[in-house]
Amino acid sequence: MNALPVRSTPALAALGLAALGLAATSVPVRAEAVTDSIARDLPGLMTIYQDLHANPELSYQEVRSAGIMAKAAREAGFTVTEKVGQTGVVAVLKNGEGPTVLIRADMDGLPVVEQTGLAFASKKRGTSTAGVESRIMHACGHDTHMTAWIETARLMAKRKSEWSGTLVMIGQPAEEVGTGAVSMLKDGLYQRFPKPDYTLAFHDSADLPAGQVGAAVGWALANVDSVDILVKGLGGHGAYPQATKDPIVLASAIVMKLQTLVSRETSPLDPAVVTVGSFHAGAKHNIISDQAKLELTVRSYSDETRAHLLDGIKRIARGEAIASGLPDNLMPDVSVKDPYTRATWNSPEFTQEAVADLKTRMGEANVVITPSVMGGEDFGEFRRADEDHIKSVIFWVGGADPQKLAAAKAGGPPLPSLHSPFWAPQADKVIASGSEALTLTALRLMPRK
Ligand SMILES: [Zn+2]
Ligand SMILES: [Zn+2]
Repeated sequence: MNALPVRSTPALAALGLAALGLAATSVPVRAEAVTDSIARDLPGLMTIYQDLHANPELSYQEVRSAGIMAKAAREAGFTVTEKVGQTGVVAVLKNGEGPTVLIRADMDGLPVVEQTGLAFASKKRGTSTAGVESRIMHACGHDTHMTAWIETARLMAKRKSEWSGTLVMIGQPAEEVGTGAVSMLKDGLYQRFPKPDYTLAFHDSADLPAGQVGAAVGWALANVDSVDILVKGLGGHGAYPQATKDPIVLASAIVMKLQTLVSRETSPLDPAVVTVGSFHAGAKHNIISDQAKLELTVRSYSDETRAHLLDGIKRIARGEAIASGLPDNLMPDVSVKDPYTRATWNSPEFTQEAVADLKTRMGEANVVITPSVMGGEDFGEFRRADEDHIKSVIFWVGGADPQKLAAAKAGGPPLPSLHSPFWAPQADKVIASGSEALTLTALRLMPRK
């Protein structure tokens, strides 16, 4: 079974437009022509993609990737500035009066040992800015984003006669550590370069069939906080617990009580996550430890819910320590990592218009509204920098084999997710649909009058 219908041909698309009663003059772009251009360019794009995939770079070290993007944009006619926000790229194409549209691709890979078995699999190693050495993999698909960005830049440059306005295309560093967008903004992205009216991006998706485009209306991605709890105790002999304060028992109580923050203190209609992802304590069977360490990921959408969860974690940690009889000087240390990743908002009306438009151009079943997710992205920062003015959408573009995805959803073998060492999207479809969605949306937002 194939979850995707056959893409409509130009003739069928024209018929569809006629049936809708749309005159040819009301159609600013010939979508089928964009599709055709991409199909023709795809072999060359796959060469770029495979090269980027084989050569991933860690956050803030995307020098080679940035160079490839800068060169491509320069050759297409953009004015390019490099090293914005450390390794970021800003490519500007001014093309007359009209709105300013920003299109972003993120560039970094992850410290993951690739196990896809692909002929062009990464064998790269690197050392993070925190000093940790590892293998590197494009396990989040940012290589597909960069490739589609290059194609979008080329298409928009070739079609300058079809639009009017300013296009700002950015290659963003360090999405995976959550600070690259802010790094570019702090380096003067909106002062040194035209400030956008619209911000666009896409991310590949392991939950959509390859080539399908999706977008969430409203909250797209969540606030992401990392929290460390150091639970203190009084250590001693495992056979003499009465002489100790056991931090493992206390930390266990804290873990259990934390579950009530979401289940009992947060509205069932308000999404929230408190996950204890790491619990470390103790050295040996017969020693009661003097500390336990917990590491949490905390997710939310609204600022209020985020504040409630973070305050609640501190309250519960302290409350359980008091209940265990610990003295004041042994209260748990709760530290919330700064900075955190702020939730990404897809401007609702704007997103619905974008989806409706892409449906008419890419086919009804190829573009869908998707649910919000609790993953994180720093793309939302580009809108938050002027949130009363900027309208924004981040699309999902499916990368999963449609048949295997359908089987997995029917209870079959699960498929690899993003960040998995096995994540190998159908990159040609991601790149084709990603560049098509970005190009068509940008053309629609900057009509030639
Ligand atoms: Zn990622
Ligand atoms: Zn990503």
